[in-house]
Amino acid sequence: MRVLMVEDNEDLARLVTGGLKTAGYLVDHVSTAAEARDLVAAHRFGAVILDLGLPDADGLTIVRDMRAHRDPAAVLVLTARSGIDDKVEGLRSGADDYLVKPFAFEELLARLEALLRRPRELQGLALVLANLRLDTASRQAFVDDEPQVLSAREVAVLEILMRRKGRVVPKRLVEDELSGVAGDLSANAIEVYVHRLRRQLADCGARVAIHTVRGVGYLIRDAAS
Ligand code: CA
Repeated sequence: MRVLMVEDNEDLARLVTGGLKTAGYLVDHVSTAAEARDLVAAHRFGAVILDLGLPDADGLTIVRDMRAHRDPAAVLVLTARSGIDDKVEGLRSGADDYLVKPFAFEELLARLEALLRRPRELQGLALVLANLRLDTASRQAFVDDEPQVLSAREVAVLEILMRRKGRVVPKRLVEDELSGVAGDLSANAIEVYVHRLRRQLADCGARVAIHTVRGVGYLIRDAAS
């Protein structure tokens, strides 16, 4: 597994790259955003460990570039900023996880391993089913590559179902994941969102079916299968 470390603090970089090599990773190290951009454009990395405070640019610009180019590499952000806004912004920009400095190398390694253990589908930004594609970074759904207008809640429900496509998703899980988006949800709110989403997808010609499994939850699948 090839890992790119983008960090301008040479001592920290040496510590982390040395540890990762010992753990069996192939590690490249660069100190600037410009070098990082060149490398991620030219190579496939399994993961990028990214400092946000780089001398020539904010590290988040690299994540955004990578995601805009559909680079699926796992991105672990290293930041000295502990503010919640920075963490949220990092994750929204397409990072998969973050670690606040100072940190123990063992924690970095454990988080990296956790990210790389995830199935590709969970790491990836684009969730695809039949002619429906959901870009989870931009929160934009496409049918036959045409952008579709869905509400934030509909996109949230769609993402939850598409991440587990072909499997029944318990209603409780949808409620839990959606409560962050929608605040307190009334008992039948999920049903309303699913109903709307189903209608919207049908209207825009998505060849997917959302089934209600009575008393359990929901399942999305290719309508043709
Ligand atoms: Ca730095």
